[in-house]
Amino acid sequence: MLGCGGSAGVPMVGGADGRGDWGACDPSERRNRRTRASIILEGDDGRRILIDTGPDMRNQLIDNAIPQVDAVLITHAHADHITGLDDLRILNRIINQPMPLRTDAATMEALRLRFDYAFLPWRPPSFIRPALEPEIITPGDRITLAGMSIEVFNQDHGFSTSLGLRIGRFAYCTDVVALDDAAWRALEGVETWLVDCFQRDPHRTHAWPALIEEWVAKLGPKRTILTHMGNDMDWGWMMRNLPLGIEPAYDGMEIAIAR
Ligand SMILES: [Zn+2]
Ligand SMILES: [Zn+2]
Repeated sequence: MLGCGGSAGVPMVGGADGRGDWGACDPSERRNRRTRASIILEGDDGRRILIDTGPDMRNQLIDNAIPQVDAVLITHAHADHITGLDDLRILNRIINQPMPLRTDAATMEALRLRFDYAFLPWRPPSFIRPALEPEIITPGDRITLAGMSIEVFNQDHGFSTSLGLRIGRFAYCTDVVALDDAAWRALEGVETWLVDCFQRDPHRTHAWPALIEEWVAKLGPKRTILTHMGNDMDWGWMMRNLPLGIEPAYDGMEIAIAR
């Protein structure tokens, strides 16, 4: 778990003393400090997929001691999931080849608009800009990336969509407010579910605790872990109030997943 924070992170910039707007979060609780949503998937052979390239990517990789990434998958084109993309050039240098990049057609289009230079052909041997090996994936696809088999599905993210990911008995559903039949089918049998939960009250583009409880009752995962949390989601409050089987993530958390 590289980052489990909302789009502005926790704390947000600001606060009376300038040390951050912590909202309802206790600043003395280390697990309340959250960078923008991103995870690393590490396969049995040690190869890694980076999910999203948000604005905190550089620090996340260093803080979590990630020496190399072998592929990248982007869930959607919101700024908190893509603005670190330029740093892929450093990861290019480590693997010394273009970086496989997978996302859906609309997100690829947005990436090409905002990071046009990153899609220019690679001119070996240097990586002065990111060198990408882009490939579009379609919701419903099952792809193999860095040796891992991943099923991707569409998620309703309010005014847009995002990609949900199913890997073995694990699923990652960030930035989601509703799931359709195809998504529920893709999620069937999931045991460990990492899912968006931005704030305590209902939201137009993100899930909230009461909605997650409904989803969990329907899906029946053994373990549900909340991510993409804003500064309303205090660690202590969640530990006291979330039902058994639902827990908050924290930056740096490691989750072993069954295939
Ligand atoms: Zn987001
Ligand atoms: Zn989003």
